[in-house]
Order: sequence, then C-alpha cells, then structure tokens
Amino acid sequence: MSKICVIGTGYVGLVTGTCFADLGNEVHCLDIDHQRIEKLKQGIMPIYEPGLEQLVSQNVKAGRLIFTTNYEEALESAEFAFIAVGTPSGVDGEADLQYVRAAAEKIADLVDHPIIVVNKSTVPVGTGDWVADIIRKRRAGKPLDFDVVSNPEFLREGSAINDFMYPDRIVLGSVNREAASKVAQLYLSLRCPIMITDLRTAEMIKYASNAFLATKISFINEMANICEELGADVRQVAQGMGMDKRIGHAFLDAGLGWGGSCFPKDVKALAHMAVLHGTSPQLLQAVMDINRNQRRRVVLRLRKALGSLDEKVIGVLGLSFKPNTDDIREAPALEVIHLLQVEGAIVKAYDPQAMEAARTMLPKVHLCSNPYEVADGADALVLATEWNEFKQLDFERIAGLMRNKLIMDGRNLWDPERLRQYGFTYYGIGRPSLN
Ligand code: NAD
Repeated sequence: MSKICVIGTGYVGLVTGTCFADLGNEVHCLDIDHQRIEKLKQGIMPIYEPGLEQLVSQNVKAGRLIFTTNYEEALESAEFAFIAVGTPSGVDGEADLQYVRAAAEKIADLVDHPIIVVNKSTVPVGTGDWVADIIRKRRAGKPLDFDVVSNPEFLREGSAINDFMYPDRIVLGSVNREAASKVAQLYLSLRCPIMITDLRTAEMIKYASNAFLATKISFINEMANICEELGADVRQVAQGMGMDKRIGHAFLDAGLGWGGSCFPKDVKALAHMAVLHGTSPQLLQAVMDINRNQRRRVVLRLRKALGSLDEKVIGVLGLSFKPNTDDIREAPALEVIHLLQVEGAIVKAYDPQAMEAARTMLPKVHLCSNPYEVADGADALVLATEWNEFKQLDFERIAGLMRNKLIMDGRNLWDPERLRQYGFTYYGIGRPSLN
C-alpha cells in the first residue's frame, strides 16, 4: 500500500486516483474546483465515464479514496504526487503550463518529506526538468528530497477504467532510475510491459503516439476523399488494408476527423515544439489541414445539395467528440455546427450524454431530447458521433418527420441501401453516394 496524492480530478486524475485506490493504495484526489470536489464527496461524478461512479463509491466506502481541495491534507506524508492537471493549447499552439507550474509550486511550498513527483499531464519535452527546477529554486534555502518521473497517460475517454487496468504499456521516464522503479511498483499488479527511459524520451513518446494516431485518421480521410472521386468504398479499402498486420484495423475509420481534448492540442503542441527547435513538421501540418478540411467538406456538400444553407434547418446527431463520453472539447460536431451557423443555417441537435456541456457551449443550437425531435422539420440530418443509440433508428419515422430527406452520415454508420429504400438521399464519407 502506498500513499498517493493526485493533483487534478478531471478525466485523467479522477480515473487514475480511483484505480490506484482500487489497487489497494490510499489516495487523496485534490482539485482547486470546490464545486467538483463537493459533488464528488456526495457521490456525483463530474464527468460521464462508464463504470466510474461505482468504482468511486466502492473505494470511498473502503476508506481508500478521499476527495479534497486542501493541498496540505492531500500532500501530508504522500510518497507520490501525481500531477494530472490540464495542459490546454496556448495562443500559438504551445501547451499552456500554468496549471502544472501551480501544482509544482504547491508541492515545493508544502512538502517536507521525501516525495516522487509523477507527471501524468501531457507536457512538452523538457517539462520534467522544468518542474524539477521550479521546485529546486523555491526550496533553495531548504532543499527538498524529491525526484520527478514522467508517466504519460494513454487512457481513452469512454473506456478509461479498462485502459488503466489493462494498459498496453506503462512508460516511465526519469533521470533517477530508482525513482522510476518505485513508480513501476505501483503498476506491477497490472502485469503489463513497463518501459523505463529518460524524462525527455518518455514525454516525447506521448506526443509521438498521439500524433501517429491522428495521422492514421487523417490518412484514411484523405483516402476517403480520393475514393469518393474514383467511385471506391473507403470502408472496404480500410478493411482490406487493416488485414495486413503491419497496418492493423485500428484508427482507420473515415469520418469527420479527430477531435477531443487531446489530439488537436497535442498535435499542435508537437508541431509548435518542432518549429521552435528549427525543424519543419510538414507531415503534422498536413495531418491538421486534412482534419480541418473534413468538416468543411461536409458543409460544402450540404450546401451543394440544398442550394444554400441560409434558413435551412440542419439536425445534428451526436455532439461529443466520440461515443461513450460527455466531452465536447474540440468535437468535430462543434466545428460543423459553427460552419453551418456561419452560413445561416438553423441547427438542432441531440447527444445521449453531452447535453449539459452543450447548453453552455452551444447557446444558439436548439437542443432536442431525442433523434426524432431533431429530425422533425429538418432539411438535412448529419450524424457526427456514432453512439450505439443511433445505430438502430426508426428511419421510416424519420423519413415522415423530415422536410427534406437528406442524410449526411459523417461516421459511415448506416446502410445506404436501406436508407435509399425509405427515400433518403444518402451521403457517407468516402463511399459511393446513392440517390
Ligand atoms: P481536465 O480538464 O478534465 O481536468 C483537469 C483538472 O485539473 C480540472 O478539474 C482542474 O480544476 C484541475 N486543476 C487545474 N489546476 C489545478 C491545480 N493547480 N491544482 C489542482 N487541480 C487543478 O483534464 P484531463 O482531460 O484530465 O487532462 C489532464 C492531462 O492529461 C492533460 O495534460 C491531458 O492532455 C492529459 N491526458 C488526457 C487524456 C484524456 O483522455 N482526457 C488522456 C491522456 C492524457
């Protein structure tokens, strides 16, 4: 059993803290957001993540998981302080490290015992050294016995608990191998490969991994656009490609492109770092351009089909950046909605989990309580997120509700033949259109 403090109780911190508690450790989860912590104390989850509520409740009951806003209490006798605060994009695309700095300063100011600072936030290469510097400088008069270990997080929202408990690998980086080995002990019961490397390499592994995954998606989207022109079906192209073990099936779904709280900011931050250090990240630029263009193509196609989008009613199904999460940060749906509104369209939308977030982020969108309300009177229906709930819709009913039977399937979820039988004009991504 170890004593762990997790700083930041968002998607990563809350899942990490809860899972560490479930593995038998004593965990203090700390956040500066009082409302968030109050809710957690009442058993109300601040995020939607399958299985999380039950796991939190079990571990709180067992006395292993404590929520607090009090840094002193959380850091008292903690052997490990995990930093899991946000690192959003700054003005030029660089990662904004103000929250990491604040956490490091608190550790420097409040800890008086040996501690290992573990950085789980996604941070620019060199941040581990920078954090060590901040602590060292603040403790100039009274040196602190500490080490910094980079432990990038690879969990996916929507399957975060499973990803934590059954990871493909754990990456640890430190100038002090012994410190990294101590962090490795926390993960030993997961029986997964643990790679120990230096700080900068560990930090780079996270960026390179996300950039590669984003590249795979942009690649298949470029193939989709070529398929559309040449009359091939990108879904089958991806299937045929994926059977090759060197390629694999994952991340080869053509669609509206990648989004969320990680890929966009991480690819941008990596490109920014590259430019700053004199290299020219041409591939990363193309990966971002293709992604932006995917959203534009959808709107272009709708405009072509409807003549103009002014005053047209467009229904959007799905707002979260992917299924099984309520996270709408940089979701493709948001950009599509923005582009539609710029052209004068009236947008209606529904999402199974993201409605609360949407209420504040999308004040001009008419939010509906189900897909049929979205379809009612719509000139076109756009599928932006492939939630299970949308797989088996009653299209006969939808055909009766829509003003104009036009479907833009941004995730290639539906069967074009079936939709055609109901009289729809169907557009997918990278598949032959059927009218
Ligand atoms: P988040 O925005 O959901 O949560 C961050 C939390 O940190 C917030 O609750 C905020 O109030 C808190 N916070 C900010 N400053 C603080 C401080 N000084 N002290 C205590 N708490 C503070 O962020 P997230 O999605 O959990 O991401 C955290 C980090 O992990 C980011 O660097 C992100 O890139 C990385 N990451 C995220 C994911 C993901 O799927 N969300 C996956 C892998 C890595």
